Amino acid sequence: MSWFKRDSHQIVTDRTKTVRTEGLWTKCGNCGTAIFKADLDTNLQVCPKCGRHFRFDALARIENLLEPGYELVDLNLRSTDPLKFTDLKPYKRRLEEAQKKTGLNDAIVNAVGHIGPHPAILSVMEYSFIGGSMGAVVGETIARAVDRAHDTRTPLIVVAASGGARMMEGIASLMQLAKISAALARLADAQVPFISVLTDPTTGGVTASFAMLGDLNIAEPGALIGFAGPRVIEQTIRQKLPEGFQRSEFLLEHGFLDAIVERKNLKSYLANTLAWFGQASIR
Ligand SMILES: [Zn+2]
Repeated sequence: MSWFKRDSHQIVTDRTKTVRTEGLWTKCGNCGTAIFKADLDTNLQVCPKCGRHFRFDALARIENLLEPGYELVDLNLRSTDPLKFTDLKPYKRRLEEAQKKTGLNDAIVNAVGHIGPHPAILSVMEYSFIGGSMGAVVGETIARAVDRAHDTRTPLIVVAASGGARMMEGIASLMQLAKISAALARLADAQVPFISVLTDPTTGGVTASFAMLGDLNIAEPGALIGFAGPRVIEQTIRQKLPEGFQRSEFLLEHGFLDAIVERKNLKSYLANTLAWFGQASIR
């Protein structure tokens, strides 16, 4: 019998055989490949087909870079909402939601541990916490990592991922740029190495301060790095920007970065760098 002459009630679908796959797959925004999320997790959130680096959680980054036995530190700070800021939503509520979503107090995590045999202090920004924006807590936590590096003469690595200063904290946010930069100047005077790792995106006040102050400034491939965003610049100068403007590769070519390092190679790159700095300080 032809399908079209069949009565619909005679066509039976066994619904127990359907498999729910929503939430298990994601699509690469660069090459369009559908990727099994578990594969993305094992591949450090990098597309297995085209190598696009997706955003990486701060805690997963620390786990990836430090040897087991590391310690998370400086965890007790929380924003007091000094301006009692309200926009579409009260800032206090946004903080609570971000804290619930990420399990963190703010957009930063400090850790002390080793990369290979080399002691290191790590300060890693969390983009999914209000766009990795830098308020007083982020600023103070990074400053504490710098002070700890200074006092213990341990190399410092800061992994940036940020939309810039946190507007809901106004001037209390902006003064963090100067505070961290001053602390880094003291660290440089003490000749303790500071390596800045820029990831997608690193923009605004973070680029304008500590992210560009490393003894080495390195970035992940394809990361957006800049002060103002490309649309703002185009509207201001009324010119079309060149292809790849503000991406890591463009910045490396124009001398703003020292290297681009793929995520899977970052740990060994940092271990080699720390070994080199260690030998350099002995001479
Ligand atoms: Zn891809």
